[in-house]
Amino acid sequence: MEEKFLPQIARLESCIICQLKCPCCKIEEFYNENPPAVRYLSSDDFYKFLKKNPFIKIIELSNNGEIFLNPELKEIIKIANIHKVVLTARNGANFNYVSNEVLEAMVKYKFHSLNVAIDGATPETYKIYRVGGNLNRVIENIERLNFYKKKFNSMYPILYFQFIIFGHNEHEIPMVKKLAKELKMRLYFKRNLFHDYSPINNPEYVAKELNLSKIVVDNSLNIEPQIKRMDSCTQLWFEPQIQCDGTFLGCCSQYYDTGLNVFENGLEDVLNSSIVVHAKNILCKKEEVDNNSMCAKCPFFIYRIRTNSFITDNMIFSAKECIEKKVKETYIY
Ligand code: SF4
Repeated sequence: MEEKFLPQIARLESCIICQLKCPCCKIEEFYNENPPAVRYLSSDDFYKFLKKNPFIKIIELSNNGEIFLNPELKEIIKIANIHKVVLTARNGANFNYVSNEVLEAMVKYKFHSLNVAIDGATPETYKIYRVGGNLNRVIENIERLNFYKKKFNSMYPILYFQFIIFGHNEHEIPMVKKLAKELKMRLYFKRNLFHDYSPINNPEYVAKELNLSKIVVDNSLNIEPQIKRMDSCTQLWFEPQIQCDGTFLGCCSQYYDTGLNVFENGLEDVLNSSIVVHAKNILCKKEEVDNNSMCAKCPFFIYRIRTNSFITDNMIFSAKECIEKKVKETYIY
């Protein structure tokens, strides 16, 4: 296994603020208990980050907050374009608020792709989960973005319509198929990982609508189906997550301060630090489990230890292949 690998993708949180109150999102609670010093990424830190880490080609800007609430987003988009770094927001945005200036910059400076979380085809259904949100406003913002795409004759940003299937919105699947088409968005359905919240009522109907042979409604504890994805951990190797103040988190499932700062030390040094190497070695069962490692409080880590599900060289190899494919498909400069 290659230990000195330099990632081509970084996940850099651009804003931890969010104006909605989605019932399954617990991040606000965490930030209330662990107040962060900085709430959004500054364009100055972003510029320095690109200068210090020239091997980074793609930056994913969305994680736990709403990227469009970052007041310096327009400048960040411009800086990325000047440095030939591709920006994505595939983790998602609620897109309830965005300025015309930012919309225009996204098109002009080739912001690559954006997932908009739209879990309903009607305002009434949408706001059941996206509490505080307004579907009409989201649609208006998408239409304004499409206006700029037409004006500048650009395919960027590629727009994804993300629909999490809940019991309360499954009847609107045919309507969202139509709506996504009208808005020129690529529709994709996402599984609800919180099985105690609004589970699917009619799996046969949903399977038929999604052209699937069957849908398995899994009512087990939340952690079990989530861990089956097993994807967050390899971010530590290939697309490390960084907080907007430069704190190295490692992956998108990590919230706690690791004591490492990428803005101060540079990503290469942080990735080669004993803290990160030790965490990787534990995850690969190459070092003894240590309850002080940077992953120790993560439920996935606890699950891995409990079930003896460590990361193998094969997993690292296939994750690396996936990342290389992603870079090939996404890097447009
Ligand atoms: S164990 Fe948890 S914190 Fe550590 S890399 Fe995996 S998902 Fe992230």
